[in-house]
Amino acid sequence: RAASSRAERYAFYRPELNQGAHERFKFESALRHAVGRDELVLHYQPQVSMASGAIIGVEALVRWQHPELGLIGPGCFIALAEETGLILPIGEWVLRRAREQSRAWQRAGLAPVPVAVNLSARQFSTDIAATVARILADTGLEPQLLELELTESASMEDPQQSFLILRQLKDMGVRLAIDDFGTGCSNLSYLKRFPVDKLKLDQSFVRDLTTDADDLSIARAVIAMAHGLRLTVIAEGVETAGQLALLLDNGCDEMQGYLFSRPIDATACARLLRDHVAIPVAAAFPLPLAE
Ligand code: C2E
Ligand code: MG
Ligand code: MG
Ligand code: MG
Repeated sequence: RAASSRAERYAFYRPELNQGAHERFKFESALRHAVGRDELVLHYQPQVSMASGAIIGVEALVRWQHPELGLIGPGCFIALAEETGLILPIGEWVLRRAREQSRAWQRAGLAPVPVAVNLSARQFSTDIAATVARILADTGLEPQLLELELTESASMEDPQQSFLILRQLKDMGVRLAIDDFGTGCSNLSYLKRFPVDKLKLDQSFVRDLTTDADDLSIARAVIAMAHGLRLTVIAEGVETAGQLALLLDNGCDEMQGYLFSRPIDATACARLLRDHVAIPVAAAFPLPLAE
């Protein structure tokens, strides 16, 4: 961190860093045109019920088909989009695209499945309720087939304001989830009042679940608290059967992660939704618990 701020201070004097600034400027103006040039795509990652093994939802994750760099992930451009305000048109595009995809799958005869969309803090503070209402009206379909994910840290920036917006969104019938839960220092008296349906246990607690007793304690506590508040809990980033066994043993309701599927494009997702055979997770992975 210290090294990078020193580098920033000397950026003026170092031609290769000026080159970097130029690259950044190019990247930013390309991002500015990404929506209009139809370069963004959504991939979808299934969410699996532990009890039934059914796919009970899919999360839409944005990617950018950059003309020179190829397909790049949100980790490379969401922060810049937030800084520049481009997250507003991008976020609106994502919402609309997710709803259109949902409708296309339904028209193709697939069983309806909720599609979750990530909202950034910046989007959440604009007139997000009006935007969502407009998109719901434009695209038809039941509002319950849209789930909105807000990170715990974004929701706690101004919890009173979040409460009011979440209430408006809930009144429209959309489902609400708190993303990256456990990393954002929740104000529990607000969490209790938020009209949310689901907590997403952050993947940082899932990663070392089988070897780090502290992570296991946190996972257990989050699951117990969620259930006490009558919320569903889904674990993010489940990659191994060992993690799954511990989550299952501790009563986690749903899972999402590479163990089941990576995020995949809409065509592959439609195939998965059509062909997936639901087997209770405990029966599909009859494994002894990790020590
Ligand atoms: P997130 O919402 O917490 O999404 C989960 C991230 O974990 C995704 O990364 C997903 O591909 C990845 N992941 C899923 N399963 C596994 C696993 O088993 N192991 C590991 N190591 N990773 C897994 P992705 O797609 O790169 O997205 C990163 C973040 O970018 C998302 O985190 C979300 O905060 C943000 N993001 C993605 N799409 C959008 C969007 O449309 N709008 C906004 N505002 N943010 C978005
Ligand atoms: Mg998410
Ligand atoms: Mg997350
Ligand atoms: Mg995340």
